[in-house]
Amino acid sequence: MRKPFIAANWKMNKTAEETEEFINSFLPLVKDVSGADILLAPPYTSLGVAARLLKSSHVILAAQNVFYEEKGAYTGEISPAMLKSAGCSCVIIGHSERRQYFSETDTIVNRKIKTARKNGLDVILCIGESLQEREANKTFDVLDRQLAGSLADLPLDRITVAYEPIWAIGTGKTATKEQANEAHAHIRQWMRKHKEGADAVRIQYGGSVTPDNIESLMTQPEVDGALVGGASLKPDSFAKIVTGAIKN
Ligand code: PEP
Repeated sequence: MRKPFIAANWKMNKTAEETEEFINSFLPLVKDVSGADILLAPPYTSLGVAARLLKSSHVILAAQNVFYEEKGAYTGEISPAMLKSAGCSCVIIGHSERRQYFSETDTIVNRKIKTARKNGLDVILCIGESLQEREANKTFDVLDRQLAGSLADLPLDRITVAYEPIWAIGTGKTATKEQANEAHAHIRQWMRKHKEGADAVRIQYGGSVTPDNIESLMTQPEVDGALVGGASLKPDSFAKIVTGAIKN
């Protein structure tokens, strides 16, 4: 059985001081949790304080983005080696907000994953369809295209896939557990067909996950965890999602 994996994507929220406050409240709430992997992805400017506070805990530290070059004249960008030295072991790549607002294509996502892996970082790869694509019955085509482009010439080790239907992100409109499971099963089938080791890859669901819907989502055999935005910003809410995700 794949171990549940719950990740917090804070997006552009929390100063370093707010990060410290969150972690000091959150860690005691999850100190006895061993049945799920837990990850926090604060903004870059909070990585230092988060690394210091999480050091002796079991909580994984991740960044929300990374650049595909290793160093050089790329003003404002952050390299994988910088993330490693800041204490990260993982990075989120290809979030729909990066694709939408920063024009990230599958080719860019693929280059980012390659550089991240080369530098020893684990990756959460985000994919998912828009409402228009779902309504046009294009969901599986979109997932296939994103998987083929993002994972071109890459093995599956170090990879977690986050299925995040864009229409469910930050909208309060969660996919039904059946919709999530169906998409995850499709993603798993694609990986089985094209790569080795598909059964070990964890597939997280993302899109308006809350303490109230996590248990129901986790009843699904293909749902291995969640990538959580809004409901990860409060320690008690995120801790409830973590404990609710543990499959009995
Ligand atoms: C996300 O940021 O990846 C996300 C799923 O956000 P939310 O939980 O707020 O929908």
